[in-house]
Amino acid sequence: MVTDITYRPRVASFLADDPGRLFVGGAWTDAAAGERFATFDPATGHPLAEVARGRAADVGRAAASARAALEGEWGRMRPADRAAMLWRIGDLLEAHLDDLAELETLDQGKNLRTSRFGEIPAAINQFRYYAGWPTKILGDTIPTSLSRTPPGKEVFAYTRREPVGVVGAIVPWNSPLLMAAMKLAPALAAGCTVVLKPAEATPLTALYLGRLLQEAGLPAGVVNIVTGYGAEAGQALADHPAVDKIAFTGSTAVGKHLVASAAGDLTRLTLELGGKSPALVLPDADLPATIEGISRGIFDNGGQVCVASARVYAHRSVYPEVVDGMAAFGDALRLGHGLDPDADLGPLVSLTQADRVVAYLEEGRAQGAQVHGGRRSGPAGTFVSPTVVTGVTPGMRLMREEIFGPVAVVTPYDELEEVIGWANDSPYGLAASVWTRGLSDAHRVAARLQAGTVWVNCHSFLGPELPKGGHKESGWGYENGPQGLENYLETKTVVMVI
Ligand code: NAP
Ligand code: MG
Repeated sequence: MVTDITYRPRVASFLADDPGRLFVGGAWTDAAAGERFATFDPATGHPLAEVARGRAADVGRAAASARAALEGEWGRMRPADRAAMLWRIGDLLEAHLDDLAELETLDQGKNLRTSRFGEIPAAINQFRYYAGWPTKILGDTIPTSLSRTPPGKEVFAYTRREPVGVVGAIVPWNSPLLMAAMKLAPALAAGCTVVLKPAEATPLTALYLGRLLQEAGLPAGVVNIVTGYGAEAGQALADHPAVDKIAFTGSTAVGKHLVASAAGDLTRLTLELGGKSPALVLPDADLPATIEGISRGIFDNGGQVCVASARVYAHRSVYPEVVDGMAAFGDALRLGHGLDPDADLGPLVSLTQADRVVAYLEEGRAQGAQVHGGRRSGPAGTFVSPTVVTGVTPGMRLMREEIFGPVAVVTPYDELEEVIGWANDSPYGLAASVWTRGLSDAHRVAARLQAGTVWVNCHSFLGPELPKGGHKESGWGYENGPQGLENYLETKTVVMVI
């Protein structure tokens, strides 16, 4: 366990140089009410910094700045210049990659290898991928057959793709900078302006990003960052009349609440919500690769991954090997501070999250499930060891609800038809994986699974070019790829008699 941490110089100076302000209209300002709250290192429970507690008044200022920027220089900027700006942001993130990785690990807890080689590079890729798009946002010319066309005249009709306007981006704590980048990059590519509300547990990389956006020369007000609580800053953003669209990633419960908030003025809404993703292990699967893939799918980042392989269905002929293999894989992972080079797995993001995970396990035990692992440890009680649960019946909450912890529920099946039904028996439909050497089975099963993404012989393979979204109660709309850009565009049809 790392106890004496020497921060990288730029991380130390960021933390020393008062991150407790909001980024509004291109300047760093205190919250109107002057309030702050602390963000913690979840491994130790020690406070890292105080950040501003933004409320409705601050969201109002940020939304007004975003509106002004949309109607100002940014709204008139040439697509090629927006593209260059996105590329420049990617370059600056890369120049600060090690600093951002360390800061993310400190604030969120995840192992540094995940931040340094996975998530921060993935955030950079978002800006680079969407840097290609501003110059390729096209409308159509439309041949018409309108009976009202005056004799001797023609109708010339075309569509314009226009930015939806001011976007409120609300993101969760599991992959903070990546989640922010997944909204900022396409929104800016489309020409929108943004008010970003990071999660209260993990605000620091968003604030660091704010400094890089300033350094990149992004015009004032194009991106505003308001830290604060969901019920205050988040709700104020959802309710603000100057916000044209809310792009939300988080829980299904809050997502449903935002649907109700949007009803008043029909604010556009995209929702990337929870999941309880199944992994189907067919009898012919390559078992060592499968066990590693589904174990990583649920244990990486402590299972705090929306697409995590939380429900594993293994054919009865391979079930014992899968259970033992996943348990052994989990047991071999060393828990420790995210910056400890000897550790594989960090803490959960907060004591609340650890309590929640352990409560599910206790309930499962009381209902007769067998729990392997699930041990709690650490100075702040935030570490939970990788867990494999068997003997879980379809009605148990362990089977039905998203735990967002390192907990795999493993169940045997006999018939393919039966397991497809079980996999789909969930209100969620975010992702799924199929593990088999059989090409036909792979594609047949992929077609029948109710999920926004189906992986074959892999899990959690995500990238900016791969559309990602939730079916059923896992969300509305898609992020990444051209679909991700669509979220931030409106269509206008222009019809002219010529
Ligand atoms: P959450 O509680 O729904 O919070 C997400 C964000 O919404 C946070 O910034 C939160 O602020 C804010 N918020 C809370 N209440 C709000 C309200 N009334 N109005 C406006 N904003 C509000 O989710 P979480 O616990 O942070 O994150 C875990 C969840 O995110 C899981 O369900 C996971 O599956 C989901 N997720 C989905 C995806 C995906 O792509 N589908 C990706 C990652 C995570 P506070 O932080 O202050 O509460
Ligand atoms: Mg924190």
